[in-house]
Amino acid sequence: MYAQVLAQRFMQTPSTLVQQVQAAFAPGGWLERGQPQFRPRAGQLAMAEAVAQAIDEAQLLVVEAGTGVGKTFAYLVPALLSGYKVVISTATKALQDQLFERDLPRLLEQLGLPLRAARLKGRSSYVCQHRLAHIHQGQAAHDPQVLRALAQVQQWLPSTTSGDLSELPGLPEDLLPLVTSTRSNCVGHACAFWQSCHINHARAQALDAEVCVVNHHLLFADQQLQEEGVPPLLPQAGVVVVDEAHQLNDTGVQFAGITLSTRQLLGFARDAMKVTTQHARGLHPWLEALVGMEQAVLQWSAEAAALPVGTRHPWQGAAPDGVDAAAWQCQLQAVGRSLHWLWQALGSVAEAAPPLQQLQERTGQLLQTLALFARPTPVDAVRWLDRQIRHIALTQAPLTVAALLQAMVQPAPGAVPRQAWVFTSATLGDTPDLHWFTHTCGLQGARTLRVASPFNYPEQASLYVPPYAPPVYAQAEHSAFVAALASVGAQQLGGRTLVLTTTLKALRAIGTQLQRQLGMLEPIDVLVQGQGSRHALLERFRAGTLRGRGCMLVASATFWEGVDITGDALQLLIIDKLPFAPPDDPLVQARSRQQEGLGLNAFHDYLLPEAAMALKQGVGRLIRSETDRGMVVIADARLLEKGYGPRLLAALPPMRLLISPAAWQAELERLKHMKK
Ligand code: SF4
Repeated sequence: MYAQVLAQRFMQTPSTLVQQVQAAFAPGGWLERGQPQFRPRAGQLAMAEAVAQAIDEAQLLVVEAGTGVGKTFAYLVPALLSGYKVVISTATKALQDQLFERDLPRLLEQLGLPLRAARLKGRSSYVCQHRLAHIHQGQAAHDPQVLRALAQVQQWLPSTTSGDLSELPGLPEDLLPLVTSTRSNCVGHACAFWQSCHINHARAQALDAEVCVVNHHLLFADQQLQEEGVPPLLPQAGVVVVDEAHQLNDTGVQFAGITLSTRQLLGFARDAMKVTTQHARGLHPWLEALVGMEQAVLQWSAEAAALPVGTRHPWQGAAPDGVDAAAWQCQLQAVGRSLHWLWQALGSVAEAAPPLQQLQERTGQLLQTLALFARPTPVDAVRWLDRQIRHIALTQAPLTVAALLQAMVQPAPGAVPRQAWVFTSATLGDTPDLHWFTHTCGLQGARTLRVASPFNYPEQASLYVPPYAPPVYAQAEHSAFVAALASVGAQQLGGRTLVLTTTLKALRAIGTQLQRQLGMLEPIDVLVQGQGSRHALLERFRAGTLRGRGCMLVASATFWEGVDITGDALQLLIIDKLPFAPPDDPLVQARSRQQEGLGLNAFHDYLLPEAAMALKQGVGRLIRSETDRGMVVIADARLLEKGYGPRLLAALPPMRLLISPAAWQAELERLKHMKK
């Protein structure tokens, strides 16, 4: 059907995909006819042509498309016109929803293509009817807060067709693990709800659809589906597009990482108690053995009690740094012995009931994971311990996603269709060959293309580097300086200021000072990350002046990307420091060691390009449309004083550089009069 529509559609027109794409983007073409405000853009067409060519030749293509290029349509148009099944992966569920609910239907309508589109999320997004039906057997069902939220889910269940829990915004995070499934607790074909299972339905729709929107995590998980006896999506696709590809390495490393926590082990012991009591009471001394397991887990956790809470501790030898190796190994072995006893005992009763068999499989998986942490860290991996107040979590992860990704993009012998892969983002490197992305993802052989932003940056934006900023190592003094600068700017502009910090400590210091200084005396709302949901904070900030009160926002971490505020709600963007990765992070340390081992310079070949990309992402929050005007302040003198400064500056859009307080004041004055 789809192929027929395409054939009829293009019978009268040039027949190669590149020519069809050119016709779609041409003045008076389908896009302009369907969307009167559409304006042809040279960069967008260049990207669309490159994507079309990559599809025709089943190539790997990496495209860095600056802000404003219109990259979504530049990949969607050729992909949809290709006639192949298309899989599009985005970085987050929110971006997935935006693409599926807004961009994709709009374009399908304009192109007049009757395509079946589907959106597939991970297990944790869908309600599990089996777990919901059995929730009253667990301890959590006695908690009044959980019971209230649970009633909400039960009331909603008959009305939902998707089972997607995002239809119930505001559900407490704590409830989600109780009403969703994991690979290990899903009972599979034995489930009474197998036919109506929402995950099964979503997967079936994704397999049936001609275009499917997934997220990066799911893209990596697709390879595992075959092991679960579920048909994977990727082998059917002729085109795979990875949007926001700069996040692929981090997501892949997270996905491939193996974690074992004492919280998980204690939860497992509780589940085991329940299942054995129900299905194998009296056949073995379960209670005694499981209480013994809990004690062993707690004693193991206590070995790390002296480590500071809330940080990652590297681990290269037999135990995490700062922990007695002999005692650590001894407690780990004790946990292993109790798991092994349980595994054997369950083996003798497993045939009596499927839950016993399933529990034995879970025990075997935990034993395997524990055995992994009893061995030394492999050379191409990194290992660390996260110490929380009541629990510890151990993680082992690969250093990069290269091997995993290479296996995915590698065509299987004789595979049909041949696959094209397109990776795109506004931030993929600071060199013409996009080395930062292609190297870490193992895509050195891919074609690359850089499409510059159509914005007039010298006209639209300026960059101020204050000459008298305190050195960044004088943390308290530096944060006070940034807060004072932000206060001056926000007062002049009536808010309209976003402060991005590199650390949570700076976030708190700057946020507190600004709230004290401006919150009461000026008609400006000072929002601070953590004092409201991300969504609520951004909505308030986006609204600009409300009931006579302006708005400024102080944020860190996740606000460095994915924040899209057009118009004059944002005129001043202040970045406190150059975003170098924390040198004490175990992953950063391991990657640096790897670079040195290869004869490279860890600072120049790893830390500096990483900082350049993070800075480019942060700065990219300011100018989001042709009519935006604003100023970026980077309160870190190293940008002008250090030898590496020019490389960081070169990675940024070509803004006007201001280096004197007089120029900063004059620019504020100019922006103040530009407000609509
Ligand atoms: S098949 Fe698995 S995910 Fe689906 S309802 Fe049953 S247990 Fe839950």
